[in-house]
Amino acid sequence: MSNTPMFERYWAIKEQYNDCIIFYRLGDFYEMFYDDAKVGSKVLDLTLTARAGVPMCGVPHHSAENYLAKLINAGYKVAICEQLNLAGEGENKKLIERDVVRVITPGTVTEDSILEDSRNNYIMCVYVDGSKGYVCYSDITTGEFKLQNIESELESGLTDALSRVMPKEIIGNKEASEVYNTLPITRLGTLPRFSCYYDWAFSKERCDKNLKSQFGENYKNIFEISKQGLILTAGALIEYLNETQKRMMKNINKMEIVKNSEFMMIDINTRRNLELTESTRERKKYGSLLWLLDKTKTSMGARRLRKMFDEPLISSRLINSRLDCVEEIYKKIILRDKLSEILSRINDIERISGKIAYGSINPKELNSLKNSLKVLPELKESLATSNVLIKFSQEIGDFSSVTQLIENAISPDAPVVLKDGGYIREGFNSELDQLRKMKDDSAEWKQSIEEKERENTGIANLKVGYNRVFGFYIEVNKKDSNKVPIYYERKQTISNNERYITEDLKKMEEVYLNAKENAIKLEAKILTAIKETLLEYVESLQKTAKTIAEVDCMLSLALVAIKNNFVRPQIGKNINHIKIEAGRHPVVESFLKGVNFIANDTSLNDDDDRIMVITGPNMAGKSTYMRQVALITFMAHIGSFVPAKSAEICITDRIFTRVGASDDLAFGQSTFMVEMSEVAQILANATQNSLIVLDEIGRGTSTFDGLSIAWAVIEYISKNNLGKTLFATHYHELTELEGVLKGIKNYKVAVREYDDNVIFLHKIIRGGANKSFGIEVARLAGVPKEVLSRAKEISANLEKVNRKLDLDIFKENKERAEDNSKLAQSILSIIKDIDINKMSPLSAFDILLDLVKKVND
Ligand code: ATP
Repeated sequence: MSNTPMFERYWAIKEQYNDCIIFYRLGDFYEMFYDDAKVGSKVLDLTLTARAGVPMCGVPHHSAENYLAKLINAGYKVAICEQLNLAGEGENKKLIERDVVRVITPGTVTEDSILEDSRNNYIMCVYVDGSKGYVCYSDITTGEFKLQNIESELESGLTDALSRVMPKEIIGNKEASEVYNTLPITRLGTLPRFSCYYDWAFSKERCDKNLKSQFGENYKNIFEISKQGLILTAGALIEYLNETQKRMMKNINKMEIVKNSEFMMIDINTRRNLELTESTRERKKYGSLLWLLDKTKTSMGARRLRKMFDEPLISSRLINSRLDCVEEIYKKIILRDKLSEILSRINDIERISGKIAYGSINPKELNSLKNSLKVLPELKESLATSNVLIKFSQEIGDFSSVTQLIENAISPDAPVVLKDGGYIREGFNSELDQLRKMKDDSAEWKQSIEEKERENTGIANLKVGYNRVFGFYIEVNKKDSNKVPIYYERKQTISNNERYITEDLKKMEEVYLNAKENAIKLEAKILTAIKETLLEYVESLQKTAKTIAEVDCMLSLALVAIKNNFVRPQIGKNINHIKIEAGRHPVVESFLKGVNFIANDTSLNDDDDRIMVITGPNMAGKSTYMRQVALITFMAHIGSFVPAKSAEICITDRIFTRVGASDDLAFGQSTFMVEMSEVAQILANATQNSLIVLDEIGRGTSTFDGLSIAWAVIEYISKNNLGKTLFATHYHELTELEGVLKGIKNYKVAVREYDDNVIFLHKIIRGGANKSFGIEVARLAGVPKEVLSRAKEISANLEKVNRKLDLDIFKENKERAEDNSKLAQSILSIIKDIDINKMSPLSAFDILLDLVKKVND
């Protein structure tokens, strides 16, 4: 078997697509052979069989999509090898011709069942040349094609791009793979393996040719200001897409250059820590900020909102223009309700237009497109009623001719399966109508034959029937078989009846069967012509889809703002502080049932309030508070209203967080190592305009090491002016830094103690805490009494030792610290000398003046 011509062809194909699993079409099945079969049987849970020693397994072609989904999700590429002719056709009369018609890879799937509706599916190409790096990424289902020149330092720039785009597949040159594999982000297991692409694919001539044929003559305009490296990156990606898709990609028609400086950068740790798009624990959308803010009505809107999360803006003009739209919808109830109602009737026009571009759209999807397009005039009209939203109205195209075409051509209840036809509407094509009539006439004809033969033979219950094996036949009861005329040819005997055929019936059969077959062929031809006509609308459909997505997002943000009582944040060039009045954590608040979320204020600026050192017991709400400040800042940058009474938010270039501890044992990193490498990243990349959230730095090592590191980190941030910082800690010693280092202010979370109990007030107030209440929290958690009382003894003992700690050894600025303590001493001695009972108000005032002068000097 293995040396048959069929296998010769198989091996030729396998050699060409050696990194793919080959789905080799044999009749109604896609078969996998040899190692592919072993992988396939394992991943797809199929029985591995062997024929003539060749391991194989297969899947029915009509349900292949489900199996494909599993392989693709497991990271495999699949080459679909089809039969291009039937046996006996083509040059080689005996052999069926086969070839690969498409390669499906994780970054290039277009199948609905494999794709996520609310998320883009990106493939990325990375090109590295020395210290320079370039990326190009595309979602072939929506036609997005973007290029980015890594402007900053290669490793960190690439890490930023990867965490923003989160591609499903990555290809690139060898140099890029070397850099990629050293990046810590690739060890998190959320990014795919890097596939090195052919060197020749990155050659200048090849790339020029690819880009020219994909984007037309003008493609060079976009590169005017850009680097040669970008041309190679984009050209190689097009090469790969051509190689895998083997079909036109008309929806990829525009290249866009992305600039690093256009977005707030948020590294992957921060995204996770802030639970922006998925919860940390379950890694699901439920419980994340996206989950709370996503009330979009369409998949296009859901994808767009996620992209806004990935690309928060840093232009106050653009942010305010989004906020204007949200505010408009927020304020106008009738408009809001109308938009909600209209948008929920619109399907995924963006991905449907992708299917038009790929020629894979089916009649059912055409109907769904038609139904969506029919809604657009209403949407346009509603948007035009608002001065703020009218710009969107102008972006929505006129598709009345498309709607009309589909309406006229496609049957409203078109079936999903095309092979039996029945999807072209009656009256659209007269030839088709005629063929169908012939088919329908056959029923009448059948009846007339029945009547004629009954008369001829005198057999009253004679019937004309049809089956696939014998075609038309005349059925007569056995007891009447002696009455049948000589021209009846007996074909089959069944229990009580005999079946016959006649010349007339044979003729009829030909007309009937041909008519049916011809009608099916003609329907397919008509469908192809319609699809071709629609091709010219791809670009305008994409543009309209983009606008709908945008409006959907603005609506979603407005709906959430109303439901959750959010306010519009103030953002502008003149604001360079973060000032939040009565801020709340949006997600924690939404989960608190029947309990009030305690709102807290925040004031951070570039001057005296630069670093908040926050102490307080466990469970008091420190992490919640710090995250809420980061989330409010983030929300403002995507153009969302925020959970607060009022908020003034400065443009922030990056948000960094170091929260909680997570082991990376699988990759040989301990909790503390992970913590420190995150800290290192922050210190290396933060700028004056960043927001830094540090939760319990130094917790993963010994107390003294931890305290020392925490101390030194604050000092470093303060001295190098690395941005506004929230720093929660259990090291109460750090509160000593207020007054020593500029910009530091101590805050604590208020608690009320009574007896052995503690009530968390969740209120952030000025001052430093001197107790952690760890043991009280342990008691709340149900730790046995015996352990608790012993812990108290030990704690008391340790505290005695701790008191001996000379805090000055941690102070880098010793002189200043000494000055301060001398000052404190002299103030103390003045106060000690006061006899308050003998003092007049005037002398009290004098002493007070003296003290103030001392401090100010
Ligand atoms: P630890 O030091 O143990 O990490 P923490 O001080 O960081 O504790 P959080 O994890 O922020 O405490 O908060 C603990 C819980 O307290 C939260 O899960 C939430 O249910 C509640 N909580 C926090 N802040 C508030 C608030 N402002 N209003 C109401 N409940 C709150």
